[in-house]
Amino acid sequence: MPREISVVSPRSACPACEAPIAAYDNIPVLSWIMLGGRCRKCKAPISPRYAAVELLTGALFAASYFNAPALARLIQQQWQFDVMPNEFWIAAKLCVLSFLLIGLIFTDAETKLLPDLLTKPGIALGLFFSVFVPLEGPARSFLPAIDNWHVLSLINSIAGLVLGAAFIWGVALLYEAVRGVEGMGRGDVKLMALIGAFLGVKFTLLVLVVGSVIGSFFGIFLILWVWQKRLLRRRRRHSSEAAGVSRSRAWNSAILIYRNFEIPFGVFLGMAALVSAFWGVALVHWYLRISGLGPGH
Ligand SMILES: [Zn+2]
Repeated sequence: MPREISVVSPRSACPACEAPIAAYDNIPVLSWIMLGGRCRKCKAPISPRYAAVELLTGALFAASYFNAPALARLIQQQWQFDVMPNEFWIAAKLCVLSFLLIGLIFTDAETKLLPDLLTKPGIALGLFFSVFVPLEGPARSFLPAIDNWHVLSLINSIAGLVLGAAFIWGVALLYEAVRGVEGMGRGDVKLMALIGAFLGVKFTLLVLVVGSVIGSFFGIFLILWVWQKRLLRRRRRHSSEAAGVSRSRAWNSAILIYRNFEIPFGVFLGMAALVSAFWGVALVHWYLRISGLGPGH
C-alpha cells in the first residue's frame, strides 16, 4: 500500500525479477519454507518478514477463535444479559482487528507510514462491530432512557474513538508546541481512533498506558544499544583516550541519535492494542492484585 501497488491486481510478483508468483508458490508460510526463502526464478532472497506476518496472522486468528467463548462469558457478566453474546461475532471482530493491526504495525515499522487505506475503513469496521458485539462504556450511565444495547454499544464505540483520537491529537499538539517539530503524525491519531472504536473507553486508556511503557523501554534500549556500539568504536579508534571521556562522548552521541530518531509510535500502540484485545482483562486483574487495589482474587 505505501508503495502504491495494488494488493489485488496485477498478481503478486517477485520484487527482484518481477516474475509472477504461481499459486502453488503462494501458500502462506509453507511456500516460503519449501522455496528456502528464495524466488523460484531468480533465487533472490525473500524476506522472512512475509512468513512471519503470515504465521502471526494465523496464530492470532486461532487465538480469536479460542478466546471467543471466554470473552462472551465476560461480556455477559459485565452487561448482565439474559442472552449470551454471539461467539461468531466476537471471533470475527478479533480476527478483523488482528488483521488491521498486523498490517499497520509492520507498515509503520518499515515505512513510518500508517496508510489511510487501512485506518479509515478500520474505524468504520470498529463502529460496525460494536452493533453486534456489546462494548462496555459510559453510555448507560449517561443515557438511562435508552435500553437498546446495540445503540448503547455503538455510542460506547464512538466514545472510545473520540477519546483515543483526542488524546493522541492533544499530545501531538503539545509536542509541537514544546519542541517546535511534528512528533506524531495524523496517522497515529487515526490509528488510535480505530483502536478506540474497537476496544472502547477503558481499554483505550489501557492501550495508551501499555503503549507508552513499551515505547519507553524501546527508547531506553535504543540509547543503551547505540551507546555501547559507539563506546566500542571509540575504544578501538582512540585507544589513548581516558575511559571516562570515551564514555561521556559516546553517551552524547547516543542521545543525539535518539533525538533525531523517528520512533514508530504506531508500532507500540498497535502492539498494546493486540495485548489489550486478547489479554486486557487478565492484565487489569493482575495489576489490581499486585497493586493491592482490587478484591483479592
Ligand atoms: Zn525473482
